[in-house]
Amino acid sequence: MRALRQSDTVEGAAVAKLLKRGEIKINISDKILLAPQGGAMPFASNEMIIYRNYAGTPKQAAGLVAHEAEHFLQNLTPALYANGSSALKAELAAYGVQRRVDSSFFLRTDHEALEYILKSPLYPQVTQSVADSLLQSGINYTKRLR
Ligand SMILES: [Zn+2]
Repeated sequence: MRALRQSDTVEGAAVAKLLKRGEIKINISDKILLAPQGGAMPFASNEMIIYRNYAGTPKQAAGLVAHEAEHFLQNLTPALYANGSSALKAELAAYGVQRRVDSSFFLRTDHEALEYILKSPLYPQVTQSVADSLLQSGINYTKRLR
């Protein structure tokens, strides 16, 4: 909570407010995952999972919480998330919030996030052709991708 506020960002303050009001909840899990996954936001839930193993510093944990909170606000459904294009937009937005809250986050641009999403086993629905069509579609943030 403190790290969220200390990030001095609109996003960090918004997430801290959601937590304070009880609109979202955090479940810390000690489960050790094989894939590098710091958190999860189950569909139709307000309770995110943060994996302690990947939480890192308070700042990094705040970034993870902000990422999952962004997914909460996106109201994702299994069908929407199974769609590569929708999933890619959702993840780019979530990684964007994460790096603004956590200035130490390693994915510093949408382009870096896109490359990471394409390589990660977590997002099999996001293929190179999905990425290419998003880049060509002229949606707002695609301009920053190149
Ligand atoms: Zn995500």
